[in-house]
Amino acid sequence: MKKHNFSAGPCILPQEVLKEASEAILNFNNDSLSLIEISHRSSSFVAVMDKARALSLELLGLENKGYKALFLQGGASLEFLMVAYNLLNKKAAYLNTGTWSDKAIKEAKAFGEMIEVASSKDKKYSYIPKGYNIPEDADYFHCTSNNTVAGTQMKEFPETNVSMVCDMSSDIFSRQLDFEKFDLIYAGAQKNMGPAGTTLVIIKEDILGKIERHIPSMLNYQVHLDKDSMFNTPSVFAVYVSMLTLQWLKDIGGIKFIEEVNNKKAALLYDEIDRNSLFKGIVAKEDRSTMNATFILTNEGLTETFDNMWKDAGISGINGHRSVGGYRASMYNALPLYSVQKLVDVMQELERNQS
Ligand SMILES: *Cc1c(COP(=O)(O)O)cnc(C)c1O
Repeated sequence: MKKHNFSAGPCILPQEVLKEASEAILNFNNDSLSLIEISHRSSSFVAVMDKARALSLELLGLENKGYKALFLQGGASLEFLMVAYNLLNKKAAYLNTGTWSDKAIKEAKAFGEMIEVASSKDKKYSYIPKGYNIPEDADYFHCTSNNTVAGTQMKEFPETNVSMVCDMSSDIFSRQLDFEKFDLIYAGAQKNMGPAGTTLVIIKEDILGKIERHIPSMLNYQVHLDKDSMFNTPSVFAVYVSMLTLQWLKDIGGIKFIEEVNNKKAALLYDEIDRNSLFKGIVAKEDRSTMNATFILTNEGLTETFDNMWKDAGISGINGHRSVGGYRASMYNALPLYSVQKLVDVMQELERNQS
């Protein structure tokens, strides 16, 4: 039996996608060649890239609205740098909500004045700051929609005339948002979309071209746009699997459908964390992430017992991030509701054993 995979990333992908992807490794499109041994310029791969780009925009409702999608390399971590390289002239505003925002801030500082509009670092990133001001003259405002490590998620985004950039690595395609609010969205594939090795970047084209500095070709969004995301050899396998996952999502009902499932999964687990006195959530309730639920045991002495129980139940990947400790159950799009039910069953069993 397949394990209940709560890994934070790389993470669970739909079983049917994995099956189709493994077939394509041996025989792609019934062409008696592997997907990974044909030219990325072949018509069959160009079709994959075009479809992956089109599906991304379609699922987010951004078709024909001046946006383009790219599948780049270097992970979301390279986007921390590329965003600043391509958009930061004088001043940028960043919201610091976690480890990943902090890293983005560090990269961007090299390119101009950095305004940290607010930070929740003082309380170990256990909440999302609210009511901050974004300077009108900032070149852009950067935020992280979901904090994979701490387990918080932005439920609302600020109203501002400043161009908005968002790292959506760990919750893209998981919930409906007004995506048109954002001029640039990026997401490493390995959390809700595909294998590691490619990063989706969605750009409103008219925000580019306002920077004086020379931008190296590989770091220049315009160069990648001009070459339809084929400036150099893309991560063909990662793009292909992302395309299959996006097609899977479209077929089951798109973001609208998956959001309902995700809300059910999150409610099931958080209700148990709040009900069961052996467990406790560690972030502000109103900011809890639907993707990554973080919690601790109220009695640390039960750690070994609990760990053995969930492992025996076929659960994998709920250890907390090394910087946070405790537990983190990641409930990305492909994780079925019954896996969350399994975890809840184990939590209840622990409670019964103690009474
Ligand atoms: C995982 C993650 C990253 C880093 O992604 P890489 O692809 O490993 O560079 C950045 N931001 C967020 C929100 C993440 O969850």
